[in-house]
Amino acid sequence: MFCDELIEHIDESDTLWIHDYQLLLLPRMIREKIPNARIGFFLHIPFPSFELIRYLPWREEILAGMLGADLIGFHEYDYVRHFLSSVRRICGYEHNLSTFVVENRKIRVDAFPMGIDYDRYADSAKAPEVKEKIQLFNNNDCKIIISVDRLDYTKGIFRRLEAYDWFLTRYPEYRGKVSLVTIAVPSRTTVEQYELLREEIERLVSRINGNYGTLDWTPVSYLYRGLPFEELTALYHVADVALITPLRDGMNLVAKEFVAAQHHNDQQGILILSEMAGAASELSEAIIVNPHHKEQVVNAIKQALEMPQEERRRRNGLIRSRISRYTISRWANDFFESLNDIKLQQDEQATKTFSGQLQEKTISEYTKAESRLLLLDYDGTLVPFAKLPEQAQPDPEIISVLKLLSENPKNEVVVISGRDKDTLHRWLGHLPLHLVAEHGSFFRFNSGDWKASIHGEEEWKGMIRPILDLYADRTAGSFVEEKESALVWHFRKSEPDLAKLRTQELKDALIMMTTNLNIGVHEGNKIVEVKSISINKGQAIRPWLEKRNWPFIFCFGDDYTDEDMFAVLPDSAVSCKIGSGPSNAKFRLGSPEHLRKFLSALSQWNG
Ligand code: UDP
Repeated sequence: MFCDELIEHIDESDTLWIHDYQLLLLPRMIREKIPNARIGFFLHIPFPSFELIRYLPWREEILAGMLGADLIGFHEYDYVRHFLSSVRRICGYEHNLSTFVVENRKIRVDAFPMGIDYDRYADSAKAPEVKEKIQLFNNNDCKIIISVDRLDYTKGIFRRLEAYDWFLTRYPEYRGKVSLVTIAVPSRTTVEQYELLREEIERLVSRINGNYGTLDWTPVSYLYRGLPFEELTALYHVADVALITPLRDGMNLVAKEFVAAQHHNDQQGILILSEMAGAASELSEAIIVNPHHKEQVVNAIKQALEMPQEERRRRNGLIRSRISRYTISRWANDFFESLNDIKLQQDEQATKTFSGQLQEKTISEYTKAESRLLLLDYDGTLVPFAKLPEQAQPDPEIISVLKLLSENPKNEVVVISGRDKDTLHRWLGHLPLHLVAEHGSFFRFNSGDWKASIHGEEEWKGMIRPILDLYADRTAGSFVEEKESALVWHFRKSEPDLAKLRTQELKDALIMMTTNLNIGVHEGNKIVEVKSISINKGQAIRPWLEKRNWPFIFCFGDDYTDEDMFAVLPDSAVSCKIGSGPSNAKFRLGSPEHLRKFLSALSQWNG
């Protein structure tokens, strides 16, 4: 029904953002009707591990339904992992850094932890209607613990009440001094199990109140209804503790709203949060508990009630600085940027292959040109990678191709490599070509002597710092260090799989930004370092580019250091990246073997 209705109203120029588990099948249905549709999908609940998904008789349909989208988002990286492994094991698609190619379409999967409208909650206590409610709720000396959820079996309300019951038994001194306000918002009321759960919860509430209550104290205040914003935020404000202990939860926004609402609060309320909520990986300064471990929950209640203000302020401050940055609008923007990015990658992929036809056209232009500049990277371009670097020496075939090309008087051939000059000299020194070693630290023009380059400095930190900060915000446990000549993103304490993914993304983003700057990006031991260097391959090829107005230039490379070359080439040049991944090159070839065939065809031309 959703699909039929949507199809009436949309075309390829629209962007669709489909939400949640009720519509898992919809992306594919739309894709079948509109093959080039632009579709994002976001799942608001946890994605279970393969061990659970495999039980479902309709598991293929569900996964295929989701794979109809171009971008699939989850709250947490754990859910991403589960999804990737289910797709691999059930559908057989291998992922590469969280992207799949399904029927020639590249699909991306990523974690986007949903945020809140921070200012709305942080400033809530300023509103007169909220102030009024705060005064109303604040009228006794009891410490207030709040529990706010939809009445759902995943929220752990029953277990929470059991833990509170136990707390009152274990610590009788708190009787009369603490009160649990339980808001259970009606949910799926027509489902019988939800009705039964409601009855169980209400029986337990009555039992606790009957057992411990006195004429002037009610241990549990229970409301079976949703509260309007003003009442809810007033409650957040007056609460000393929020006890949010779902058994499983995609994210849990109440936890974030509660801490945000403490912004202008002299008495900081403290959050006890279940480790089973997606929010727990971002809100690590809350008191984190396993909701199934009743004793731990009981101890957490005591710890929270007795926590000094200074400590509460410190913990909440850290949480707030994070949730005030990654807000609901950042979340949505992030998602759309990522969707645009994958659509761009799909477009590039479709147009960029250096096909047979394009190769013939290039050869024809080559034969007509009076002078030609051929710029070639070495490792991964002219020769494939070997296990050990010293094993990647040139074979007779490539030597003979390079010899033919460089002996042609109309050609200038430059091999630009990250390797040291001695190795290059030993392997290629006998050929009449130009050599550039260590990304541009040393040059050898024709068969002359090696020369070192001259260094310079540039201002670049202001531009790069915000990008690193963005990655630090999106990757729990990571941070940015600023050195005199470098910026460093540290991720030793982050979840390793997520850090691996982010490292690659960060490096790609930085390469795109730094093509014209004199800085380099290096991956070290659990760090990514951006360093000032005045040396890169883009600078290195300038002497040749500036030498004359070349009627024909081509440039081949495979890794991020070659991107510097692609970026400085004139528009007329043919640039080609060997292998996959984002690139500034116009075209793409599968492997060094493909390039070799092409160069070999070119070298046969003597004119
Ligand atoms: N909420 C509300 N009134 C209430 C209780 C909750 O408006 O009485 C809102 C709350 O502010 C939050 C949402 O309901 O934004 C619940 O979101 P959450 O992610 O915590 O749980 P979900 O219901 O989506 O599982």
